[in-house]
Amino acid sequence: MIAVEKMIAANRADCCGCYGCYNACSFEAITMVEDEEGFRYPRVDAERCRNCGKCERTCPVLNPIEREQESTPVTYAAINKDEAVRADSSSGGMFHLFAGQILAQGGIVFGAGFDENWEVCHQSVERVEDLGRLRVSKYLQSRIETTFQQVVGHLRQGRRVLFAGTPCQCAALRRFVGKNDENLVLVDFICHGVPSPKIWRNYLALRARKKEIRRISFRNKNLSWERYLLAISYGNANKYLAADLNTDLYLQGFLQNLYLRPSCHNCHFCKKNRPSDITLADFWGVQEESPDMYDGKGTSLIFIQSQKGKALFQQVQDRARIKEQDFAKAVRHNPSMIQSSTPSPKRAAFFWDVQRNEMDFMKLLYSYTKPPFKVRVKQWIRKIPGTVALVHMIKGKRGELSS
Ligand SMILES: Cc1cc2nc3c(=O)[nH]c(=O)nc-3n(C[C@H](O)[C@H](O)[C@H](O)COP(=O)(O)OP(=O)(O)OC[C@H]3O[C@@H](n4cnc5c(N)ncnc54)[C@H](O)[C@@H]3O)c2cc1C
Repeated sequence: MIAVEKMIAANRADCCGCYGCYNACSFEAITMVEDEEGFRYPRVDAERCRNCGKCERTCPVLNPIEREQESTPVTYAAINKDEAVRADSSSGGMFHLFAGQILAQGGIVFGAGFDENWEVCHQSVERVEDLGRLRVSKYLQSRIETTFQQVVGHLRQGRRVLFAGTPCQCAALRRFVGKNDENLVLVDFICHGVPSPKIWRNYLALRARKKEIRRISFRNKNLSWERYLLAISYGNANKYLAADLNTDLYLQGFLQNLYLRPSCHNCHFCKKNRPSDITLADFWGVQEESPDMYDGKGTSLIFIQSQKGKALFQQVQDRARIKEQDFAKAVRHNPSMIQSSTPSPKRAAFFWDVQRNEMDFMKLLYSYTKPPFKVRVKQWIRKIPGTVALVHMIKGKRGELSS
């Protein structure tokens, strides 16, 4: 049994599904197979395997990349000045600026986009007008497929490559490329964890039943940046199904950690120093920490992780509004920078029920994500016209009486 298999056998939660071993194998002995929860894991074909050890050497969990010196990354709040791009990005639209700069230098950009089934896989873009395919967070695990091999192909031709992905994907690519990486820029983000593609598939089949989907955005900003509006556009007209984090069951399950990959609860990559060159994030808490950088339309956090990251940031900074921040204050509202998400206590029961497949999937999702009874009563009351004003009036009267 080779080490990658041994590692999974000893602790399945160590495998982050980064596709590093899959890309490293020269004998096509490794396939990535979806398990019953919907996450992909490597399976080794013993007849093809020559025990060369390349897969083990590429695994970012078995071979963590240690930084020579730990340091606190220089941190900025940042907003892309192009309002149209910012409106169509998760936070401040800074990914687009970095990617556009690499394209302007004749480079190529790899990031996560939807495939023909509205699942997510990594893909490349060569023209700035196609960057929209990669913009905006997609809240399910992206399939890397042969991306790492493609990246190396472009680096060998002397091209600059920007790869954007989860911290584990970036660590795996850094391992895969090795020392020959002057032209490679890695952009990761603070990652809460990746949800199961199978749960997304089940959700989408019912949510957009019989609709011809044109576009999906997990972070539509029509209501606000903070409310995570999941919008599914369909038909020819400007129609879309939309629900925010208070009402959308998929977003609720994601944020309640009901169906994240097991390795996300034991993440080896959520550290302040990372193998990436730049780390991106939503600047949650910006109203409190840096109110002048808040306008409700999305502010990014940028952590500079290397000299290469610093150089790229300097090249784009005249196209952004930026302000340096204190690292500790900036991550105060974003714990996933340094700690793994805790699994929902209902996670195992949820997947057990998904497998039994005895209940309508939406009902099942509702039964696991619904808020406690007291909170639901409050939500129902709020929906009755005039009740909010009435409650305020009663509270006001009580205040008057007690004073
Ligand atoms: C699963 C997930 C969890 C996240 N958790 C947090 C968090 O806890 N806190 C936080 O501050 N930010 C989190 N983010 C990042 C955040 O949502 C924004 O992506 C980030 O702020 C960059 O915003 P932007 O406007 O600069 O770029 P955007 O235009 O939003 O660019 C997004 C970039 O992320 C890449 N990407 C999108 N989806 C995926 C995916 N499924 N897998 C790999 N790469 C992907 C795209 O290729 C693109 O490069 C998460 C993102 C994802 C995908």
